[in-house]
This record gives sequence, C-alpha cells and structure tokens, in this order.
Amino acid sequence: MIASKNLDKIREIQEILGEGVNLISLSSLSLDLIDAAENGTSYRENAIKKATAFSSISKKPALSDDSGLEIEALNGSPGILSARFGGDVDYSRKNQMILDLLSKFPAEKREARYVCVVCLAYPDGRIQTAEGIVEGVIALEPKGCGGFGYDPIFYYPQLKKTFAEISPEEKNAVSHRAVALRKIQRFLIRDQGSR
Ligand code: IMP
Repeated sequence: MIASKNLDKIREIQEILGEGVNLISLSSLSLDLIDAAENGTSYRENAIKKATAFSSISKKPALSDDSGLEIEALNGSPGILSARFGGDVDYSRKNQMILDLLSKFPAEKREARYVCVVCLAYPDGRIQTAEGIVEGVIALEPKGCGGFGYDPIFYYPQLKKTFAEISPEEKNAVSHRAVALRKIQRFLIRDQGSR
C-alpha cells in the first residue's frame, strides 16, 4: 500500500523497488488522510503519520515518502514545506522564484540537498524508517525536462547535469529517494525471508 498521491513519487518508488514489490494506492477518499498527516515538524514525523494511517485502514504494510529540497542560502528552506513553497503555482514558477531569491547570493550559498525519509508501517504497529540525502547545487537556470518538481534547477556536480537532464536510471542510482528505499528494501526482503 503506497501512502502517496504524488504520481511522480509513486513512479520513482516503483522503478527503484522493481517489479518484486506491487504498490497499491487507496481510494481518493483515503488520500485526504495524506493532507491531514503532513502537518508534522519533520520529514520523519510526516512519513510515520502517512504510513501508519494507511496501514491501519488497509490492514496491509504501507510505505510512505516525505521529502524536500533544502537550500543553504535559505537556511534549509523550503525543506518540509517544499510542496507548498510559493503557493498553488506550477513548478516552472516555483523554480523561478528560487532562482530569483538566490540571485544575490555567492556560489557557495547555492549548495543544496534533497532529503527523503521513507516509512514502512505494519498493521500490528511496527514501523521502520530510513533517510536518504543527495547533495547538489542550485543551477543558474532551469535545464532539462525529465524528473519532476525542482529537478530542472537541482544540479548534480558528479554528472555535471541537473536531475531533469539525466535519465530515470541515473537519478534512481543516486537520488535521496533511492538511498532511503534501498535501506527499507532490506527490511522487506528480511521480512519475506522470515515467513
Ligand atoms: P511531500 O513529501 O509530499 O511533502 O512533497 C515533497 C516535495 O519535495 C515535492 O512535492 C517536491 O516539491 C520536492 N521533492 C521531493 N523529492 C523531489 C525530487 O526527487 N525531485 C523534485 N522535487 C522533489
């Protein structure tokens, strides 16, 4: 059971976990729970709230992802408020707002990271959480049309490209989401093995 309504995240999570894990979403009614759960003060708190709510409704293991972009010059903002940053506007506008905010800062202040906390919650109340971080730099202009969200302005120095310019395979090899999910995947495999 996947406790998310973000189709881009769900697609990436499915790609990272592979076909051995079958992700199921709940009805749109239950998806309202996600909005209610996203009022915590940390990625971990939000991730736990989403996964435990879905697991207790569905009586199945539920997986959630809470993530965000943290920018040095903005003291770690937008962080857990990344989805809400700039209000109800599209990401080309949100990205431009960030570029405008950063225009007066020196290069080293453009350092940024994506952070992701995933939570696996079981109907009996057990939970596992894992965190993934990927370091990058906010680009001078948006580039590329892959990925989603802030990817066109998230420049990944190792590949000398933004996350929107690389392939899904390249992003899924290094992303915050992939790092966190690989840690959780170990628990999925261990649980299967112990049955
Ligand atoms: P939430 O976890 O639903 O609160 O939303 C996470 C938000 O962080 C997304 O809506 C994006 O704004 C941003 N974000 C997280 N991961 C990524 C990513 O891999 N690419 C681009 N934006 C991301």
